[in-house]
Amino acid sequence: MTHSQKPTPEALAELRARYRTERERRVRPDGARQYLGADAEFGSYATDPWAGETAEREPVRDRVDVAVVGGGFGGILAGARLRQQGIGRVRVVEKGGDFGGTWYWNRYPGIHCDIESHVYLPLLDETGYVPEWKYAPGEEIRRHAVRIAEKSDLYADALFSTAVTSLTWEDTSGSWIVTTDRGDQFRATYVITATGTLSELKLPGIPGIETFQGHTFHTSRWDYGYTGGTPDGGLTGLADKRVGVVGTGATGVQVVPKLAEDAGHLYVFQRTPSSVDVRANSRTSAPDVGADREGWARERRDNFLRIVSGESAEEDLVADRWTSSAGLLEKLLPSFRRPDDRVAFEAAYEAADAAKMNEIRARVERTVTDPDTAERLKPWYRYACKRPTFSDTYLPAFNRDNVTLVDTSDTHGIERVTEHGVVVGGTEYALDCLIFATGFSVGVSGVHSGRLPVHGRDGVPLRQAWAERGPRTLHGFTSSGFPNLIHLGAVQSASSVNFTHVLDEHAVHAAALVAAAEAAGALVEPSCEAEDAWLATLGEGAPDHAWFHAECTPGYYNGEGRGRPNGPTAYPHGAVAFHDLLRRWREESMDEVLRPRTPVRA
Ligand code: NDP
Repeated sequence: MTHSQKPTPEALAELRARYRTERERRVRPDGARQYLGADAEFGSYATDPWAGETAEREPVRDRVDVAVVGGGFGGILAGARLRQQGIGRVRVVEKGGDFGGTWYWNRYPGIHCDIESHVYLPLLDETGYVPEWKYAPGEEIRRHAVRIAEKSDLYADALFSTAVTSLTWEDTSGSWIVTTDRGDQFRATYVITATGTLSELKLPGIPGIETFQGHTFHTSRWDYGYTGGTPDGGLTGLADKRVGVVGTGATGVQVVPKLAEDAGHLYVFQRTPSSVDVRANSRTSAPDVGADREGWARERRDNFLRIVSGESAEEDLVADRWTSSAGLLEKLLPSFRRPDDRVAFEAAYEAADAAKMNEIRARVERTVTDPDTAERLKPWYRYACKRPTFSDTYLPAFNRDNVTLVDTSDTHGIERVTEHGVVVGGTEYALDCLIFATGFSVGVSGVHSGRLPVHGRDGVPLRQAWAERGPRTLHGFTSSGFPNLIHLGAVQSASSVNFTHVLDEHAVHAAALVAAAEAAGALVEPSCEAEDAWLATLGEGAPDHAWFHAECTPGYYNGEGRGRPNGPTAYPHGAVAFHDLLRRWREESMDEVLRPRTPVRA
């Protein structure tokens, strides 16, 4: 069957059975425990290759208006939006040596954003910057992060190469006491946590991983000193090296073609193949994207969000594989509607999904010349089961003589790492260099994992307050008992594949909360009733995705095959509706989150 044909009922039944078999082969009894947790001692895997010598400095002991934890796009946008509200002292505290967050750490060869740059890069209208490529390289994105931080005057008070170690509310001064791993202890009237969702790197707990005697690193800590070259390639240091890369997710798909160009020999250790769709990157000019009109970037970004959230839109401005496949991603999106005729809808959805995945598999077959390798590169699961990837160079890399695909799916991944290499199916692959493209603990922020201890009123730890009944917030931003503490992009809100858009909407909201509290001389703190009402809203009409994910191949979308957390974690009507709700609430009901300051702040 070709992808243009409508699959027959028999073909669909066959596919269903194949997907189930492939899933069963992959589910591991240890689920998410197979990874070394966020608390593991990563040693050299986690050191900062970009910071250079960390300069000594005196510990800070002052008071600022707002402390922002994290200097990625979330923290930068919070800072920018606070500036627009006229807030004076804003201090961003960041683990890395500069702003940029995930784009600071990730500088691996081939790095690009797979969301269109004109909708991904924030504040284009405000900065006047027009990206040069439809899909921007990482360095362009990092430079844009720096550009916003500079324009928003965030450098003067920022603390880099510094991790916040605790946040403690002090009622007497009406402020948070912030401590860091550099001995700082300062007060902040407000704290905004923007610790990100891709900030804790993840390594597989493969037996013997610590014994490897060759060179090894994680893709988010690329060692150009060893490989040579730059994110554009030219990795001449690998010319005589046997290189292994573990992981074929969005990162692996970008890094493999660059490694293939330069490595003596490249072994790609694959457990689950990604769906790899067309990339078609191109240079763009301002007229191409209508950048000569005021508000062009906002309009484009809103249009993209509408389409990928399953909302109607008159035109598709971005017109790429995200927008053309948006209907298939609805299963992942909270905006997924419950149609009246569920059975007919499901049948149509499954047929469309099969057609798309057949197209993806046909592309593998067309591109990869060795039939066995091609077979192993074909993904056997539904489109929304794993994050889709996009590349025009990944699949052709497997046609090179110096590239070998090693399928580890029969053994649930790599069996063992030895001093000299990697063992799969009893065969040892000798390696000089082993690179982990194994991703991040997605969605785990320091606040939720407990790595960043937070103590609210009466010293109550946030983790304890949320232990029994799960997180309790108003709109995902604020919590009773934790005055003037604002979470950005964390839980109980709504998300999207274009995460920077979500972060910007949240930053606008966070800054408005701070500005309203300042104007009223009040604290930002919701009542327990407001939290209850929000929890009830989250539960109303929440789509049941459990049955869908139960049939999916394991990954972080479905708790490594074991299902997602119970209880509503997101606003059920999607990001577009959520942003509208926040806007209306700011206009009408903001007072409900403002409480008198008692005692008056010192
Ligand atoms: P992922 O978590 O997506 O992928 C990790 C990879 O490692 C998977 O292929 C996984 O296999 C594999 N793996 C894990 N353990 C083992 C093992 N024991 N043996 C063999 N293979 C193993 O990480 P990424 O870094 O690719 O992506 C992280 C996040 O960053 C994602 O959310 C991604 O979407 C995002 N990202 C976004 C980009 C963008 O352009 N917007 C670019 C790059 C990343 P398996 O699938 O079987 O678990």
